[in-house]
Amino acid sequence: MSDSCSRKDCIEFLGVCVDKVDTSALVDAITSFALGQEQKTVMYVNADCMLLSQKNIEYRDALNRAGLVYADGIGVVLGARLWGHRLPGRSTAADFIYDVCRKCAVKDVPVFLLGAAEGVAKEAAERLVQMVPGLEIAGTHHGYFSSHESDRIIDMINSSGAKLLVVGFGAPKQELWMLEHASRLAPRCLWGVGGLFDFVSGRTARGPQWLLDNGFEWLCRLAVEPRRLWRRYIPGNILFVLTVLRYRLFASRKP
Ligand code: UDP
Repeated sequence: MSDSCSRKDCIEFLGVCVDKVDTSALVDAITSFALGQEQKTVMYVNADCMLLSQKNIEYRDALNRAGLVYADGIGVVLGARLWGHRLPGRSTAADFIYDVCRKCAVKDVPVFLLGAAEGVAKEAAERLVQMVPGLEIAGTHHGYFSSHESDRIIDMINSSGAKLLVVGFGAPKQELWMLEHASRLAPRCLWGVGGLFDFVSGRTARGPQWLLDNGFEWLCRLAVEPRRLWRRYIPGNILFVLTVLRYRLFASRKP
């Protein structure tokens, strides 16, 4: 697939089309995709995803086939600025999931949560229903299943009546799974959310709001899970900046 953007209002950043979308437009898009006829996927990118997309062509292809790709990390917003493009800001699902759920409750969009360790999606669903009365959770399932179990899980999702499928396996697993199975999935909107259910369920702490609001979500995540995430954030963030600078200085830039 070509690296140039086929969607309107996107920037092409390191070969990935990223939508110029703010959080409120994103919330509207997710719910209207869920109610639409044509199936669409919604995916996010952060600095780690951008680096991954440089090495993993299948993943980059999945991102470029999405209905919408939003910047989930401040790194992408700042990196894009270094590249000469402006994005409206970052949108983090752990902040705006409640707005999506409120819209889904008002517009009768049943939601299926798929992903995370056994029991986590169910706990996240309970928390969401508590916070958003009227929200219909069509079903939940954990994210640790083998590829031959996908058929059974797809049947479960399709028979649940869900219109919005929220998939949290982390990148690039969730994007590749959504792309592979999209044609057999009944929900009209498939949305990849990474570790969202861990946060919503309360199993993983997110950090103080003032740090989250000032672009330090990565630092909070690093403090909570240093062994798993140090590679992603310490050498990863440095490599991301170097990659953007290298492209900025040496690659031919498209207008
Ligand atoms: N996960 C999953 N199935 C897998 C691997 C991971 O459901 O085979 C879940 C994991 O439990 C966690 C999420 O995927 O809830 C990944 O979180 P991470 O923080 O890595 O995602 P990110 O938001 O950083 O992409």
